[in-house]
Amino acid sequence: MPYVALYRKYRPKKFDDVIGQKVTVEILKNSIINNKISHAYLFNGPRGTGKTSVAKIFARSVNCLNNKNGNACGTCELCKKIQENDVDIIEIDAASNNGVEEIREIRSKVKLLPAVAKYKVYIIDEVHMLSTGAFNALLKTLEEPPSHVIFILATTEIHKIPLTILSRCQRFDFNKVNSEEMFAKLNQICKLEKKDISDNILKLIVKLSDGGCRDAINLLDQVLSLSSENITEDEIYDMQGITSEDKIIDFLNTILENDIVGGMKFLDSFVNSGKNLNGIVEQLLILLHNIAIANTVDNFFQGDSQKKYIAINVNLENIKILTNILIELENQMNKSTNQRNLFETYYIYMSSVINDCKTNVSNNFVNLVKNRKQTPKKELKECSSENGESVNTDFNLLKKIRINNILATANKEELIKINHDYERINDFIANKVYNNIAALLLSGKVVAASSEYLLFSFDDKSLVKVFLSNLEKIEKFLYEIYNNEYKVMSVDSNEWVNIKNEFIINKKNKVVYEILPELDVLQNQNKKNTKFESITNNIFGDEVETIN
Ligand SMILES: [Zn+2]
Repeated sequence: MPYVALYRKYRPKKFDDVIGQKVTVEILKNSIINNKISHAYLFNGPRGTGKTSVAKIFARSVNCLNNKNGNACGTCELCKKIQENDVDIIEIDAASNNGVEEIREIRSKVKLLPAVAKYKVYIIDEVHMLSTGAFNALLKTLEEPPSHVIFILATTEIHKIPLTILSRCQRFDFNKVNSEEMFAKLNQICKLEKKDISDNILKLIVKLSDGGCRDAINLLDQVLSLSSENITEDEIYDMQGITSEDKIIDFLNTILENDIVGGMKFLDSFVNSGKNLNGIVEQLLILLHNIAIANTVDNFFQGDSQKKYIAINVNLENIKILTNILIELENQMNKSTNQRNLFETYYIYMSSVINDCKTNVSNNFVNLVKNRKQTPKKELKECSSENGESVNTDFNLLKKIRINNILATANKEELIKINHDYERINDFIANKVYNNIAALLLSGKVVAASSEYLLFSFDDKSLVKVFLSNLEKIEKFLYEIYNNEYKVMSVDSNEWVNIKNEFIINKKNKVVYEILPELDVLQNQNKKNTKFESITNNIFGDEVETIN
């Protein structure tokens, strides 16, 4: 006997078997009992909640000659004919038939009487996929439907349905199936299949299917097909290409605790075990959402979950920051061919934003200075919330000095040379040491260059921050590419426009940019009014020429 998927095998055959859609089912049954049939229905709701199943049940029930409390009898002449050949129940998948021609064909055929049944029922699945032309053609049919025709339109995206169509349909909203009903259904299937699955595993399946009955039964189907007797939660997570919540919590903790090495190990394990990185982002978002709820609503989660979420050391402000970054990462990942690199870049960024005042910026800065084999005479200030001045002041000063020095030395020839070889960065996209840096630099561009300095610009402000946290590594990387010890700095594209405009004005006023020593200036932060004399070079090449 050929294998029949559980979802097909246990698809509800009558209204009373449908779970999770009590109100909808009651109204539809009553309309059949009272013979108040509409000619167009719209079933709206998430995937796998039973829209198509209910549409088919309705189509059979409305045609049954011995209807029993709204359900088809299954034994009358029409029920039998429909079971043999449901020629009068026509299913159309709009996702693959979105053309005007298909709908025109429906229009020409709706006038023909049903072959065997009372009603010809057209079930159009994913109706939002129809083209505008097809919707217009459908509208003409819905305006004057023959009395023997019923349309049932099903959609997961109601906002894409034209109002002209909506206004002609009786609408039903299908809900996600609640956990208790879903659990009972899965339990029932296990009993019928004579399989013993632990309650914990069934509960996990219910949780992962998020109210979609089809997804839940399909996942159960996969679980039952496993040969092992004792199925573990991890095996189920693997099937879904995701990871356990406990691991996601540990991963989140590496971000919160600035444990970048630990975080990279997690990413390694996710990738090596074939996890979908989009799924990991989604799991992090769900976790942050749950933490936020647990911290604001008492006893919202059952069992130990509430305590577990509250124990995670993250405040609402940081939840909001991380959520925004993760949503941006999710969007960027859909466009990226190298999701892992992108994830790593954003990971470092998240970690540095959350731990900004603790270590990253200051450590990088200290390393940067140490690397030059010079020691700043002035100790860098410790970062603390009470102290208005932070190490960022020093870092901002370095940024100002470097931008000044770049403007003082930049020239068009160097910029052309840099851009000429910039594509070589692509060769490092799979490099173990520099893959993140390569991905970062490819997201930006060099806007000013001299033999000693490079200024990078990024459209995305968050990447400027990542850049500033990795100055030292970027400089080492550029040495690999250009065999030259460049000092680098970065700005966002808006900043760059302002810097450039200011430079142009200064140039017109014959102001000269003097090269400032980085460490000397750090020691003499109060020394102001550095003298500017005259400008000799065209720094920005063509860009300035067009502005002039
Ligand atoms: Zn019947």
